[in-house]
Amino acid sequence: MEQEKTQGELLKEKLFLKRENAGEVLSAQELAQADSFCEPYKAFLNHAKTEREAVAYTIQLLEQQGYEAFDPAKKYQAGDKVYQNNRGKALIFATIGKKPLSEGVKLLISHIDSPRLDLKPNPLYEELELGLLKTHYYGGIKKYQWAAIPLALHGVVCRRDGQKVEVCIGEEEGDPVFCVTDLLPHLGDEQMKRPLKDGIKGEELNVLIGSRPFKDDKASEKVKLNMLVLLHEKYGIVEGDFLTAELNLVPAGCARDLGLDRSMIGSYGHDDRVCAYTSYAAAVEAVAPEMTVVTVFADKEETGSNGNTGLDSDFVRYFIEDLAAPHGIAGRTVLSHSKCLSADVNCAVDPTFQDANEKRNAAYLNRGVVVTKYTGGGGKVSTNDASAEYVGEVCRALDKAGVLWQTGELGKVDFGGGGTVAKFVSYMNVDTVDVGVPVLSMHAPFEVVSKTDVYMTYRAFKAFIEA
Ligand code: MN
Ligand code: MN
Repeated sequence: MEQEKTQGELLKEKLFLKRENAGEVLSAQELAQADSFCEPYKAFLNHAKTEREAVAYTIQLLEQQGYEAFDPAKKYQAGDKVYQNNRGKALIFATIGKKPLSEGVKLLISHIDSPRLDLKPNPLYEELELGLLKTHYYGGIKKYQWAAIPLALHGVVCRRDGQKVEVCIGEEEGDPVFCVTDLLPHLGDEQMKRPLKDGIKGEELNVLIGSRPFKDDKASEKVKLNMLVLLHEKYGIVEGDFLTAELNLVPAGCARDLGLDRSMIGSYGHDDRVCAYTSYAAAVEAVAPEMTVVTVFADKEETGSNGNTGLDSDFVRYFIEDLAAPHGIAGRTVLSHSKCLSADVNCAVDPTFQDANEKRNAAYLNRGVVVTKYTGGGGKVSTNDASAEYVGEVCRALDKAGVLWQTGELGKVDFGGGGTVAKFVSYMNVDTVDVGVPVLSMHAPFEVVSKTDVYMTYRAFKAFIEA
């Protein structure tokens, strides 16, 4: 027979903050649901390695579910489903709610760009009879992690003749891959005295793409020539076309189950496709929402949200204005009554690097979706510090729906930090708080998330939409 609880135990239960592991508190059925939820997520990761691919793949999914391209001249009614493609690199989709837009909308905003290596405008050269590409890294990376791993080339080339060609090499079975080379340890003594951040320097992120010269007795730079011949045969491009291209090198290969128990997923680009996918999954299930649900996949978050596909531009505000105008409602009225979950990953405490976090306030794998009141760093600089009232409202909705959640903070005080798009959303006078999935090895070529956290994040978005 179970022993009766002491007064202290009962009081603890009532007064202490609970910290629960999903593996312990979820039923076998819920754990199975979490696992099966992650199968299409892995497919999303594999089909959407760049922001362009994420937009194209999501539009395909949305059209299968009856979403239509947004027409600003139309007056949309409850149940209507629309999407707006911003230059093929950012995406907004919405399901119109029963309540008037003057009462606001529910916004789910994530980003679909991830750190990677971008080709420079004039990337191709030959050195020691090897063909190489110069890169400029995109977003915050530890550069040494990107050497000696297989890379795939994704992107578009806008040719002089006006044709846009899509490039993807290194993902299909049998495709060649590329790599950044590194020095052998036998000769690495000098290199290994460098600070780790310079282990591989920015101008050393040169990508090896070929070694066989074009057969000709007179021509020079015959390896480079051979590379251009191959590219011209396949894509019709010439060297000058690199200037009008966006070509990205990303880790080659697929998302994989991680661990003997398959409880985790290892992949490139969880940050922030994990929040994009989970918000998509929750949003498309809301077929007759009370309030209009607007989901945004933003670009350029990893470089500061600048540019007209990033959140530090007006494209979301213009969409809301265009949606509301036919109803005779001002965009600012809609936005001032709107609520947002800024959906981005947070760091999970790493058992090997525990010192980076203050453990009472850090997020952990398998403890559910992370609610982050503020990000920023160095005295809360550059953050949207969500109000107690709004965080309370969101957490009540999560509790009511039985969602497992935890608090998070991006590292120890004065240990670094980082921001999200939340501050750009709050700039529009929208109540906003950060939520998302805890990640290990964030921004590495192979990031790790837990399947139960992915599932709980989807459940959190559903709870927010239904609240
Ligand atoms: Mn992110
Ligand atoms: Mn990031």
